[in-house]
Amino acid sequence: MENLLEFNLRELTKYIAPYGHKAYRAKQLLKWIYKVGQKDFNLMTDLSKSFRQELSEIAQIKTPQIHLDHLSSDGTRKWLLDVGAKNGIEAVFIPEKDRGTLCISSQVGCALECTFCSTGRQGFNRNLSSAEIIGQLWVANNLLREQQNYKSFKIEDRIITNVVMMGMGEPLTNYKQVVHALEMMLDDNVYGLSRRRVTLSTSGLIPAIDKLREDCPVSLAISLHAPNDALRNEIVPINKKYPLEALMKSCIRYIDKAPRDFVTFEYVMLNDINDSLEQAKQLVSLVKDVPCKFNLIPFNPFPNSGYTCSSRAKIESFQRLLMDAGLVATIRKTRGDDIDAACGQLAGQVQDKTKRTQRIHLA
Ligand code: SAH
Ligand code: SF4
Repeated sequence: MENLLEFNLRELTKYIAPYGHKAYRAKQLLKWIYKVGQKDFNLMTDLSKSFRQELSEIAQIKTPQIHLDHLSSDGTRKWLLDVGAKNGIEAVFIPEKDRGTLCISSQVGCALECTFCSTGRQGFNRNLSSAEIIGQLWVANNLLREQQNYKSFKIEDRIITNVVMMGMGEPLTNYKQVVHALEMMLDDNVYGLSRRRVTLSTSGLIPAIDKLREDCPVSLAISLHAPNDALRNEIVPINKKYPLEALMKSCIRYIDKAPRDFVTFEYVMLNDINDSLEQAKQLVSLVKDVPCKFNLIPFNPFPNSGYTCSSRAKIESFQRLLMDAGLVATIRKTRGDDIDAACGQLAGQVQDKTKRTQRIHLA
């Protein structure tokens, strides 16, 4: 049975054509699936009975199963979604006054090994399919509508206004499926999100950043975390392959196609590792040619991480130095930490194929 969440408009049109259905039927179907959130073909009332019957025989709408559903005291809501074979991924919704941001995953675990990241610590199982990526929006949308009283809900009302690919996984190592899902998020027939409001966060895979610039330029966030190669090689090991100077150049290239005129640099504040004023100065000189904004992320601890978070005072003086040098720097508010939904705490459930967990225990 084909899962219709795999198809964008063009593919769905092609899929129903042999059954004698025209392109506008594909648009109708997408509207039912994504705007209304309907899974049951029989309830798609403006499709002919015979078409509905046909669809239920050949296709399905398969979304990730909800395993756990947590609501934090600050309104943040986190789901652990079952994607089969004892693998779980996490998605988090963060409501704010003027927007609702959904943080989604791109892989079960992550094959990169950033030392301060709990997803990285868990190893890697597999890439998510495009259907599993867009399926996270589908599930969140439907559940949030229930939370906000579905009955009074008009389909034009949007609860999820922003999407960030900052959950589990490195999106650019699952390029094809991620871009397919991004294109669907942006398509008016699906979620119609604005390019500016969809952000991909990456640890810095340069060739894939260049490709994204051509294929689907959305807002870009780079996990920087260190001001020089020596330290970044240690804590973000992919840096050995794609060092900082080349990464800065790729950011500059990205900007001329990007929906925003800056790149966001994420910088996790690790006590006595990357938080000195000397390192802040190095950072200023590293990014001097890159239109950028800094987001300083207080480190979120997890068991046996080996790190602690910098003190508030240290984070603030780090921020001050960047701002005095003319950079924009904000400190990320930690949301949902009472339910382990904050950055880097997304652990999901990973059947590790890399034996990383074992290696770490032996080390
Ligand atoms: N793989 C991508 C996206 C997922 S991680 C990337 O690395 O960019 C999303 C963000 O959370 C990244 O900036 C990541 O470095 C950060 N992060 C990871 N572990 C963290 C932790 N323990 N505390 C705070 N932020 C963390
Ligand atoms: Fe993977 Fe991102 Fe975590 Fe690094 S920070 S291990 S790239 S999820």
